[in-house]
Amino acid sequence: MPEKLWRVAVEAPLREPLTYSFADNLERGRWVHVPLGKRSSMGLVLGPTDEFNHKFELKSVQNFDEELPLLHEAFVKWLEWLSEYYVYPVGLVAESARPPLKKNMKPRKSKKAPVIPQMEADQPPILTEEQRRIVESISTHEGYQTHLIHGVTGSGKTEIYLRMIEKTLSSGQSALVLVPEISLTPQLIQRFARRFGDKIAALHSQLTEREKTDQWWSLVEGKKQILIGARSALFCPQKNLGLIIVDEEHEPSYKQDEKLKYHARDAAVMLGHFHNCPVLLGSATPSLESWHNSQIGKYKLHQLKSRVHTTQLPSVEIIDLKAAKEKAQLQGSLLPSWLSTDLYGKLQSTLDEGYQAALFLNRRGMAHIVICNSCGYSAECPNCDIHLTLHGKSHLVCHYCGYHENLKQQCPHCHEGELAPIGLGTERLETDLNRLFPDKRILRADRDEIQSREDLENFISTMEEGHVDILVGTQMIAKGLDFPRLKLVGLVLADIGFNMPDFRCTERNFQLMVQMSGRPGRSLELKDSKSEVIIQTYNPEHESLVFAVRHDYEGFAAQELVHRKALSYPPYGGLTSLRIQSSEHGKAYQLAQQIGHRARALQNQFEPYKGLEILGPAEAPMAKLKNQYRYYILFKCSHKAVLNRFVRQLLGDESWIPPKCRIIVDIDPLQLL
Ligand code: ADP
Ligand code: ZN
Repeated sequence: MPEKLWRVAVEAPLREPLTYSFADNLERGRWVHVPLGKRSSMGLVLGPTDEFNHKFELKSVQNFDEELPLLHEAFVKWLEWLSEYYVYPVGLVAESARPPLKKNMKPRKSKKAPVIPQMEADQPPILTEEQRRIVESISTHEGYQTHLIHGVTGSGKTEIYLRMIEKTLSSGQSALVLVPEISLTPQLIQRFARRFGDKIAALHSQLTEREKTDQWWSLVEGKKQILIGARSALFCPQKNLGLIIVDEEHEPSYKQDEKLKYHARDAAVMLGHFHNCPVLLGSATPSLESWHNSQIGKYKLHQLKSRVHTTQLPSVEIIDLKAAKEKAQLQGSLLPSWLSTDLYGKLQSTLDEGYQAALFLNRRGMAHIVICNSCGYSAECPNCDIHLTLHGKSHLVCHYCGYHENLKQQCPHCHEGELAPIGLGTERLETDLNRLFPDKRILRADRDEIQSREDLENFISTMEEGHVDILVGTQMIAKGLDFPRLKLVGLVLADIGFNMPDFRCTERNFQLMVQMSGRPGRSLELKDSKSEVIIQTYNPEHESLVFAVRHDYEGFAAQELVHRKALSYPPYGGLTSLRIQSSEHGKAYQLAQQIGHRARALQNQFEPYKGLEILGPAEAPMAKLKNQYRYYILFKCSHKAVLNRFVRQLLGDESWIPPKCRIIVDIDPLQLL
């Protein structure tokens, strides 16, 4: 039999698949071992081909892998889509679709705690009218359709997921459930375990490689029908996939920031598309991308308007720091400058009643933020609607386009205050609180303090057992946690969140406000005593606050989308970033300039690229990280496909990139750091 030629996605950083010969027949979706240089590599067969570049020596496939399963056509198509869309080598995309270890031939009973807890079975509740209508409406769609389920915490979204999974399983298919940061959601897994018992498998980064491999096989062979996992669970080629759920679809942790920089929500929608099955996205504060898609009819919108149990949402109160400061001066207050007399008073009364209080500070990137200490003004880029960040002592820079100006001492807005970098951290709060409340127990919780799952569990039980009076932390602790005795939540300085150098900062801030107001008062202990959220700010009129106080997501989305549209930010068009980095500053700088020139030349040369906007190059907010100097260049375009073609053409075969330099592509970047 004559040798046939095959296109193989080889696990190496190559832009294109390689061609190999093989005497026997192969199939698309088959795993093979192939020679690559002096070593052997795994590869995925993409199909037969006639093309071969005769500059190279033709090698043959060594053998096909007898252990790994043949990948389903829908799944191979999805891998190819990821590679195309995210401009990432297809072989390195395919690599994620294999388990980390070889199959365990004789599965041993693990002595460690099982991956899924054993729980007593529960009785499914009778659906509310709202829930019943949504389940019915979703079920009437045949094949692929993305459904956006919008409803506040406690409105019954999870119960809808459970019903849809039940239906999927009874038709002989399996389900995939994605959750952000699975280690933060033990309560959700327990709930699934009560309903579906031993039908569940889990995949996330906290498992050992052996556990991951065993879980993987149980799904691929169909021994388990429900996969709950973090974003990487998408890459498990589950048997008979018939339903995909993405919980908290707005969460930024769905975006992978290294290697293949995919967004798990978007990848999930495409996985559903290729498998011709429904995709459910759920959130109390949908991403504006998903919301927009539901408004233009691409996704089907389902809304839960009320909570299942009529627990009241807490009252949200805004404290104007400017007015508070004037008052404090008049009264000769001795409180630290970050604490208004009102918030201090609420802290005192909460503690007197024997309840807990929590104070949040959004600290990310804080040192670079400059705001007026009198009116809260912060300088913005005239081109990008992005807050400027401080470089050195007196240089303000836009990290999108490179615009810069000198830091003015006096505030150009109110002419009273001084512009100064924010020097407030959770440690400062802790110290001050210890002084103000010497007989109370104060606990600080932030990324420095809580690094492992064990730390988190200890922290939760300390809170639950009531060994803490005031909790101080970053926004990380505002997520997903439910403490029965928590009555007061304070956001110390909301303005930090307004001033991030990121066009999504208003959206993030709104999400944080809504999350925070979901925290206190969820338990029955607080039934008779109303819980409160206090937000301190210099900008009481800020959009994200005004709408959050009214719990008005739709109003917020409508207004924020107007801004996005005006500047063609997503969801009105695509954004792509290239990060240029090198261990030598001169090289990084030069390459950044070179790319800028190349990009502009390419744009002038081809008509379809005329509508593209090129921003930068500009120094990264973190101009040096891990000994690498970093620059960004950004491209905006209303047509994503044009943008994709442009980036491919700009990079070419990458052989022109000088040694010791790298260019890292990020399609739909969520943050530039
Ligand atoms: P969400 O996912 O929107 O936060 P859940 O589905 O978790 O909402 O529902 C909130 C609470 O209400 C949970 O304790 C859940 O068990 C309960 N619940 C949900 N649906 C019903 C129902 N139809 N009848 C009674 N209780 C329900
Ligand atoms: Zn700018």
